[in-house]
Amino acid sequence: MNNLTVPFLAFQPQHVPARQEIMSAIGRVYDSYWYVLGDEVKNFEQAYSAFNHVTQTIGVANGLDALVLALRVLEIGPGDEVIVPSNTYIATWLAVTQVGATPVPVEPDPATSNIDPARIAAALTPRTRAIMPVHLYGQACRMSEIMDLARQHNLYVVEDNAQSQGAAFAGQLTGSFGHLNGTSFYPGKNLGALGDAGAVTTDDATMAQKVRVLRNYGSQQKYYNEVVGYNSRLDELQAAVLEVKLRHLPEWTRQRQQVAAWYGQHLAGVAGLRLPEVADSATHVYHLYVVYTAQRDALQQHLMSLGIGTMIHYPVPPHRQQAYAHLGLAAGAFPIAEELAATCLSLPMWPGMTEEQVAIVAKGIRSFAG
Ligand SMILES: *Cc1c(COP(=O)(O)O)cnc(C)c1O
Repeated sequence: MNNLTVPFLAFQPQHVPARQEIMSAIGRVYDSYWYVLGDEVKNFEQAYSAFNHVTQTIGVANGLDALVLALRVLEIGPGDEVIVPSNTYIATWLAVTQVGATPVPVEPDPATSNIDPARIAAALTPRTRAIMPVHLYGQACRMSEIMDLARQHNLYVVEDNAQSQGAAFAGQLTGSFGHLNGTSFYPGKNLGALGDAGAVTTDDATMAQKVRVLRNYGSQQKYYNEVVGYNSRLDELQAAVLEVKLRHLPEWTRQRQQVAAWYGQHLAGVAGLRLPEVADSATHVYHLYVVYTAQRDALQQHLMSLGIGTMIHYPVPPHRQQAYAHLGLAAGAFPIAEELAATCLSLPMWPGMTEEQVAIVAKGIRSFAG
């Protein structure tokens, strides 16, 4: 992919300047002779709590586990229903399924691709226990309406903050609204480790302690197990790397927002192409820069022929995946999600991408538009 004129994603502008700092953090862990649940994890958890304006962060093995552990702590399981977006990465749904509960999809607002709070009430039943908003592509969901609804109906909120570290709604950071929230530090996420990693965030110390126990075999005291837990620990190496990268994240987020602004200027007025929209009171940290066109597949091929990398997030909505065939949700069951899946295209986006590179992508798109 890196031989392309403009790749879909390039790590170099992040990893080359930070190389020295990251290598020294890795060296420190190497020489510490302590590799699991030590000071590096504690330090990163504290730094991430400060960043995310929460009192508790619990480092775990990946983003999917963060969501599973959050649902386990809330004792959500068989017989329970959880509201999920019809338009999301499948991990949100998988977390619900893994604890034995049933995902109940709600359609997005097509303007933002995020769950439409106005459609949630109609999907609630006496079995509904929680709402899982996903701040898709890096844009905060309309959290005021979602939190109001949750209070009215006595539901938990578990934010899926995997794509949106640093985004905010009405001035409050995503990952700090829900009772427990999950995030991912998969390498390509806005804050990425050098492998799998994730975290749960919360302001509730009791729930946080339950997550700590669950992530470590259900044990507080070594070899004494209180509950049936998991092995889902953030390791010291990843924590040390993440602590360094977290210090750069605000600057990298500004750079992503600058790239998005350049796209907005260079792509203005292209017929048949819809650019991302940001809702009132929401901010967007542009994990992905996603445009929409009825000619999606042909445009993607055209850009590839010019050496421009793009991706589709996501080509098949969860309810149409074979994994969820048992739910019996036919084609057409969630038409907005299906339409977005058929028309979305993620353009190259990374911190440090230049205006010249944005201009090359825009020129490529204009040459297709004719
Ligand atoms: C990446 C992602 C996850 C899962 O994170 P992993 O660390 O890959 O397990 C969950 N939800 C969303 C929306 C994601 O983008």
